[in-house]
Amino acid sequence: MSDNENKGILIYAQLSRNFEVLSVVSELASEAQKLAEKLDGEPVSAVVLTDETNIDNIKNTLQNSGFDRVYILKNKQFKEYSTDIYSKVIIDLVKETSPSIMLFGATTQGRDLAPVAAAALNTGLTADCTGLDINEKGKLAATRPTFGGNLMATILCKNYPQMATVRPKVLQIENVQIKNTEFIERYIDLNNLNSRTKIIDFIKNVQDTGVTLNDADIIVAGGKGVKNENGFNKLKELAVLLNGVVGATRGAVDMGLAESSMQIGQTGKTVCPKLYIAVGISGAIQHQVGMCSSKKIIAINSDENAPIFDIADVGIVGDLNVIIPELINELKNRK
Ligand SMILES: Cc1cc2nc3c(=O)[nH]c(=O)nc-3n(C[C@H](O)[C@H](O)[C@H](O)COP(=O)(O)OP(=O)(O)OC[C@H]3O[C@@H](n4cnc5c(N)ncnc54)[C@H](O)[C@@H]3O)c2cc1C
Repeated sequence: MSDNENKGILIYAQLSRNFEVLSVVSELASEAQKLAEKLDGEPVSAVVLTDETNIDNIKNTLQNSGFDRVYILKNKQFKEYSTDIYSKVIIDLVKETSPSIMLFGATTQGRDLAPVAAAALNTGLTADCTGLDINEKGKLAATRPTFGGNLMATILCKNYPQMATVRPKVLQIENVQIKNTEFIERYIDLNNLNSRTKIIDFIKNVQDTGVTLNDADIIVAGGKGVKNENGFNKLKELAVLLNGVVGATRGAVDMGLAESSMQIGQTGKTVCPKLYIAVGISGAIQHQVGMCSSKKIIAINSDENAPIFDIADVGIVGDLNVIIPELINELKNRK
């Protein structure tokens, strides 16, 4: 039991640009149900901001995610994300409902919104968590990598709500209990609210196969061992043949071989594809945290002692400049 007036867990239910609930929301809901059990069954709620598009679908997804209560806050202006407007609306709801814990997905939007809300609510935020628990005093124990990924720190927050962001695809959806969800729909008046930002254009970060790094089933990732642009072009060719996308280590990004949006790892994206092909990547812990949940990992490296082999399902010791062209030829012959 928590020792304060604040009760329940509130989750920010972010929508995609197609007005669908992001899968990280169901991941957070599943985890929140486990936390709520340790808090004597406190309710798990969601808040969604919508311009009223796709509402039935949104309700369906949130009910199936196991929420006790869902606040659906509506205004045409919620169509486009604005830090000023969204944060004000979230802060007002938190003040009204006084949750003990508030969780966000560590998406671009969640990473923007959560700290603004935390600062305004005079509380703490543990960002980019990899695990959540409730300690013996009923406090949120939020775990995240620290010291360059070499240590895991479990952080407690003095104030309420205790806030955290969690990366997509880190938490497993397990044993979800479907509830008789209470939906509270409200129109939000934004007359006195201004946004200091305006969206001029939206450019989706897709590669040739039309898939984003986060959604890809197959990722061919290159590291410093790839050495030059020509090498990365080969990885791209392989990725296209496999209907996948290319990712990179920070080492490769720092060398100018790949764009920062392609970086996977602690300071890049977290991915969980069906197949991850690591090419010329040593397997530093800061890279591993972003890809170690991949279903199958194939590593190609000339150094048999490279740490990437410790987590690989299949390891190929050899020169990538020989192996990658051979793989490409083999796939072309099969097409
Ligand atoms: C705070 C912090 C955050 C970080 N965040 C990230 C992050 O988000 N993502 C990330 O990736 N890193 C991150 N890093 C950097 C990380 O520590 C490593 O430096 C980086 O991942 C190494 O990249 P690499 O594997 O490409 O390079 P290297 O470690 O240099 O490995 C290159 C590999 O290529 C192999 N190789 C060379 N030539 C060939 C060949 N011809 N054929 C086959 N194999 C070959 C070598 O044997 C070697 O294993 C972070 C570091 C810090 C301190």
